[in-house]
Amino acid sequence: MNNLKIAIQKSGRLNEKSVQLLKNCGLAFENYKSSLITTVANFPLEILFLRDDDIPEYVQDGIADLGIVGENIIVETEANVRYLQRLGFGKCGLKIAVPTHSEFKELADLNGKAIATSYPTILKKFLDENNLSTDIRTISGSVEISPALELSDAIFDIVSTGGTLRSNGLKPFADVMTSEAILISKNGIDGNPVVRELIQRIQSVLRAAETKYVVLNVERSNLDEIIALLPGVKSPTIVPLAEENWVAVHTVISEQDFWDKINKLKAAGAQGIVVMPVEKVIM
Ligand code: ATP
Ligand code: MG
Repeated sequence: MNNLKIAIQKSGRLNEKSVQLLKNCGLAFENYKSSLITTVANFPLEILFLRDDDIPEYVQDGIADLGIVGENIIVETEANVRYLQRLGFGKCGLKIAVPTHSEFKELADLNGKAIATSYPTILKKFLDENNLSTDIRTISGSVEISPALELSDAIFDIVSTGGTLRSNGLKPFADVMTSEAILISKNGIDGNPVVRELIQRIQSVLRAAETKYVVLNVERSNLDEIIALLPGVKSPTIVPLAEENWVAVHTVISEQDFWDKINKLKAAGAQGIVVMPVEKVIM
């Protein structure tokens, strides 16, 4: 049987995190920048390095079985692929932006105007849904410069912090969609044991990323209060310390829970709190 193939971005914003995710799943491979395909040494998988724009169609057509790509590209290409797992990185928004000092106030002000974008399909759907008749100018890059060149009245593009907009004299005007990296597959391979195994490994890595191993010391008399504060833990491990009447509490909690509870834990007498990263969480 041929190995499965997964397509990831060759270079760009999703490349490093995609490679890191696969390595955290225990996959051993060389990440040669110059090669387009590499074989995983310890798992029946090959990795294809592609331009992100090509990944959804390659997966739809079965040239790759799996892919990691931004949802924005999946929606824009209208590829017929399955969403297997949201990956939590490459988060960004797609927005319409207008010149900072322009008169645009409401969506209807876009009627009769021109918007430059590299995402004409997503934009057209949004304009149609809002009954706007706006001219779409498709360009492949440097979209944010087009209003200054009077090539368009507004733009539709990826925005994360807004810094690029500001430095081009633009401001956000309408939020159209949010996006993150997604693990996709071609249709009909969900039952494949290799795919299932990979999804399981990915999920255990994603869970671990938001989980912390916490150790704290507390006097026995305060132990019940501390245990009551620790959410969702079946039974924390309690270890006696050399000093009489003191114990160490070991537990695994989400990072968010930890920050929510830290002050209460301290108030309840927790001392010497140590927080450690967790590598995998198997459920
Ligand atoms: P390629 O050469 O593969 O075509 P590209 O230049 O089109 O790459 P990148 O800029 O590397 O694309 O962005 C890849 C993906 O990362 C985008 O499609 C989007 O999903 C996500 N992304 C883009 N900009 C940001 C951002 N500022 N913050 C977070 N994620 C982003
Ligand atoms: Mg691209």
